[in-house]
Formats: sequence, C-alpha cells, structure tokens
Amino acid sequence: MIFRSEGTSTNSSEYTSIQFEGKTALFGGTFNPIHYGHLRVAEEVREELQLNKVVFIPSSVPPLKKRGLIDAKHRLEMVRIATSGNPYFEVSDVECRRPGKSYTVETLEYLKDRASLSDPLFILGLDAFLEISLWYKPERLIELCDFVVVNRPPNDILDVKKSEYVKKNSLKMLKDGVYAMDLISGRKVLCVKCTPLWISASEIRERISNKRSIKYLLPESVETYIISHNLYRG
Ligand code: ATP
Repeated sequence: MIFRSEGTSTNSSEYTSIQFEGKTALFGGTFNPIHYGHLRVAEEVREELQLNKVVFIPSSVPPLKKRGLIDAKHRLEMVRIATSGNPYFEVSDVECRRPGKSYTVETLEYLKDRASLSDPLFILGLDAFLEISLWYKPERLIELCDFVVVNRPPNDILDVKKSEYVKKNSLKMLKDGVYAMDLISGRKVLCVKCTPLWISASEIRERISNKRSIKYLLPESVETYIISHNLYRG
C-alpha cells in the first residue's frame, strides 16, 4: 500500500509516498523481561502497517541498560516463549551470538545485506527514540533504515517532533493514528499511535524483588519461566 498525503505541507504538489506493506520490522530491546508493552506494540504496528513480520532482537550486552541485567540466554528464551503463539513474530539471536556490546548500528549493518530482510523498518518506543543521540554512531544509525516510533506513556506520539534528528515542519498524517516525518538523514520515521500501556521491565523486576504480583503485566508462560528459574529475586 502506498500512502499519498498532502499533509501539512504548503506546497500541494509535494506528496509523501511511503511503502511499508509487506515489509519486515525489527524490534530490538533488552527484554529484561519481555512484557505486554512490547508485545502489544509489535502487534499493533504489524497490523496498522500491514507488515509481513516483526523480528524481536534481544540484545546481549546493552550499552545503556545495565541495571538488573540477567543473562542473555534467559532473556532470549523468554522472548521465544512469549512470541511463539504469533505467526507474524520471529526471534533473532543475532545480537546474543555476537561478542561485545550490542550496538544496533552493527546489527543493522549486518542484517541489511541479507536478501530476506530487504530494507527493514526498526521499531522504537518514543522514550528510546528521543535518546538516540546517546546511542553508538547515531548519525550512521539513522541512515541505515526507516524507523517506526510508538508512543509510550507519559509521552504523546507527536512528541517525536522534539527529536533533533527529525526535520522540522515535515510532519504529515498518513491516516488516523499514523504520521510520517523526515529524518535529517533523508530516511523517514513512521509514528504509530498505539494503545498506551504503562508497563516497564524495571517495574516488573522491582515487583519481583519485593515479592509483589506481576500477573497480567506479561504472559503467564513468561511468569512461569521467571519463577522456575528463580530470576530477578535480587
Ligand atoms: P526497562 O524498564 O528495563 O528500561 P523497558 O520496559 O523499557 O525496560 P526495553 O526492552 O528496554 O524495555 O524496551 C525495548 C523497546 O520497547 C524500546 O524501544 C522501548 O521504548 C519499547 N517499549 C518498552 N515498553 C514499552 C511500552 N510499555 N510502550 C511502548 N514501548 C515500549
């Protein structure tokens, strides 16, 4: 599907033409542990943009998230368990297999040449997107693919305009709840308004260490895995 929108542009001959139907989106994260915030975002983006699949990529050694980090093998396994019932979801161990820090830029450089993944999108929560300047080689990163940014409470999806990497006044509405902005690299960022879920992995870890319930914040199968492996007990 190609969306053509005159959007907010003053020049009526200037159209946004973005094709994303049938594409693959990569969803990187620490997933420490995976929860319904991650899963619901992946499903809503997949459906809204009519994507072919979403590939979850748990990081091995996240450069920015060290607090309470458990072994990548457990985080990878929990992502596998949580996604196994969805035919559109896949899991890649590409970062878990690579030694050293898990830089997204290196993952994208590695994956972009693989024929099965031609020009994938990369999904990010708005909190992460607004911190991209802290990532390794951000200027290179935003050249490598188009991004999908989703809202995450307390931010509204249109807070994407605060990023130093988006071109000012380039916002266009493609359809209800889906916007596009130009990145300064010439790439695009698609902004998808998802059901806001106030869930974070750090809150789940804290609840476990305080012996509080984590029910309905993540799949029961993941909770069972956490209990049986005695994870996050502090
Ligand atoms: P932590 O609380 O440990 O910092 P987290 O819940 O943010 O972890 P990550 O694995 O670091 O989880 O997140 C991976 C990606 O998923 C990031 O781009 C993040 O913005 C996004 N994300 C996580 N939780 C949500 C949520 N509830 N809503 C929208 N996006 C989310």
